[in-house]
Amino acid sequence: MTWNDERVEQLKKLFDAGLSASQIAATLSAPVLGLLISRNAVIGKCNRMGWTRPIKARDSQHSAPRKPRVRTSVNVESIMKAKRQPAFKAEPFIPSADTITPLHLDILHLKPDSCRWPYGEDKITFCGHPAKPDCSYCASHALKAFQKPEKKTQKQFHEQQRQSQRQYRAEAVMNAVGAEAA
Ligand SMILES: [Zn+2]
Repeated sequence: MTWNDERVEQLKKLFDAGLSASQIAATLSAPVLGLLISRNAVIGKCNRMGWTRPIKARDSQHSAPRKPRVRTSVNVESIMKAKRQPAFKAEPFIPSADTITPLHLDILHLKPDSCRWPYGEDKITFCGHPAKPDCSYCASHALKAFQKPEKKTQKQFHEQQRQSQRQYRAEAVMNAVGAEAA
């Protein structure tokens, strides 16, 4: 490709029109005629001709003031943490030991996985509801048996004393049955 006068004239027109080098190259190229002018060829020719463009000054005084950047990025770590830890941890509902209805199983009908919370005075019966794994009591009675000691009223104190005696007697009965079975 040679820069004949006609093409140089076209180049000058396009250059003065403010087209970019790649736009000029595309305009001057005529692929149908096998004429391909590269962007670099346009830049080279303009330089050789001594045509220069004023560098577009980025005058910050005239341009619109930049909007302060609003941080839209969020803390990914905090989101991940929030996902890992549900805000509401559902505790299984355990009915109070005082409200559950004991099955009143006697010692002979007590299964190994039955709650051994004793009831009764003369004849000891047991709660009999399924016990928690690795526990002698159902969830409700385990809660009652292992709850933190707190200030008790006199009535509650005596009730607990009675319960302790009951449990002691129940253990004695169970030991006796176990000895018989052995
Ligand atoms: Zn129980």
